[in-house]
Amino acid sequence: MNLMPEFRCHRPETLEEAVRLKAELPGARFVGGGTDLLVNLRRGLGEPSDLIDLSAVTDLVAVRRIEGALWLGTGVTLADLARHPDVLDDYPAVAQAALAVAGPTHRAAATLGGNLCQDTRCVFYNQSDWWREGNGWCLKYKGDKCHVVVKSDRCYATYHGDIAPVLMVLDAEAVVAGPDSARRIKLAELYRESGAEHLTLGAGEALAAVVLPPTNGRRAGYAKARVRDAVDFPLAGVAAALRRDGDVIGELRVAITGTNSAPLMVPTAELAGRPWGNEAAASLSLALRKTANLLRTTVTAPKYRRRVMQGMARRLVDDLWNEARSG
Ligand code: FAD
Ligand code: SF4
Repeated sequence: MNLMPEFRCHRPETLEEAVRLKAELPGARFVGGGTDLLVNLRRGLGEPSDLIDLSAVTDLVAVRRIEGALWLGTGVTLADLARHPDVLDDYPAVAQAALAVAGPTHRAAATLGGNLCQDTRCVFYNQSDWWREGNGWCLKYKGDKCHVVVKSDRCYATYHGDIAPVLMVLDAEAVVAGPDSARRIKLAELYRESGAEHLTLGAGEALAAVVLPPTNGRRAGYAKARVRDAVDFPLAGVAAALRRDGDVIGELRVAITGTNSAPLMVPTAELAGRPWGNEAAASLSLALRKTANLLRTTVTAPKYRRRVMQGMARRLVDDLWNEARSG
């Protein structure tokens, strides 16, 4: 581990001040709970001139019902998110995903915003300075060559957040605050498929809230494969939301994480109107295979991660399908 780099620390009390500071200080980074960012800084990954600590911005820690939707402030800790009565009553899959993140002490500090905006990861990147230097650094930071896709001019580091895919299948939107205005986008639009620049946030922008619309009869769940069940990032994660109309699928939404540089929706529209069974499961499996781009970015082989992702998706939708009949 490296010593922390030198930086100035700011602790604004309003979102306006936080985004104004971010816009004025091009080398600044936001910090929520610090469980992703500070670990990376201790590995020599980044040298921000300033850190803007969001923990005193009280507006960001609210969870509010507004016209049938649930607004989640991005400063809410994952521990609080997982035990909030409105989340447990209406969106239990969000609590399930929050509880799947890291361990209890991480979740006590980690925030929703930090979880959604966490950096992408790669076995050649999340290493000590001396290890990376010994390997000639890499394209994502300080180097000019990717060790995963050798002739590539882009980084393929993988997004491993657990909560984004669940919010995406529930059709959540993100509220993005900038120094001059705020905008609302689909959560999936917060991301792009680029390991070194996977967020679409502008230089002065912060993620302020996530808006969950009414569930419209959807049941959702999340499944995650990891090396150590107690504390670990997903090697692959699958979220699904299903609305069953009698004997056929009314709507099935599926999203994946741990596979690409962004959490991604899997195209499933053609499954609507069909019964769930072996044929539909085979179509879903093919769609998952076409969407996921599993590469050598983790210690576990891409082939294993692909197969486990497909298996988890089948089991998850089986369960949602059966629960919808019995409930
Ligand atoms: P921070 O470290 O504070 O911030 C992360 C990034 O988000 C930074 O770039 C920061 O600038 C940016 N950011 C923070 N808030 C905002 C905002 N409001 N607007 C814009 N940008 C913002 N994560 C998982 O998803 N699943 C896991 O299983 C998991 N396991 C882990 C295990 C270990 C041992 C460790 C160390 C980490 C693990 N993590 C895991 C990563 C991390 O702990 C979580 O993602 C956590 O939720 C990050 O939240 P944070 O508030 O601590 O983020
Ligand atoms: Fe570096 Fe390539 Fe890994 Fe990106 S995918 S972190 S460029 S080795």
